[in-house]
Amino acid sequence: MGTILIVDDSRTMRKVLAASLKEAGHYIIGNAGNGQEALDLLKNLSPDLPDLITLDITMPEMDGIETLKRIRAEYPGQKVVMVSAAGQKDKIMEALKFGAVDFIKKPYDPDEAMETFKKILG
Ligand SMILES: [Mg+2]
Repeated sequence: MGTILIVDDSRTMRKVLAASLKEAGHYIIGNAGNGQEALDLLKNLSPDLPDLITLDITMPEMDGIETLKRIRAEYPGQKVVMVSAAGQKDKIMEALKFGAVDFIKKPYDPDEAMETFKKILG
């Protein structure tokens, strides 16, 4: 069981992710619709940071890559898993280079995603 912050500009995707994570026994500590919202939330939560952040790559205003860089700069130990369309290989590689622990593909496959969460959170 872990605490999770979900960051995605799609309300549907946030709901779907939350449903799977809750079913697996995790606790959703917060939701954010863009990178800036996520950073504000983290500031409020700190020092009780989530065990994991799920971070969408394509978002308006501040995308997932920029958000990841800022999170990792401010909270170096923070675990982040990217959520991205399978076609965005370059972005995924970039995110892994900047410290994302793994990635989850869209379209969303609950079983595959649960495997990934299990690997990260135990
Ligand atoms: Mg998006």
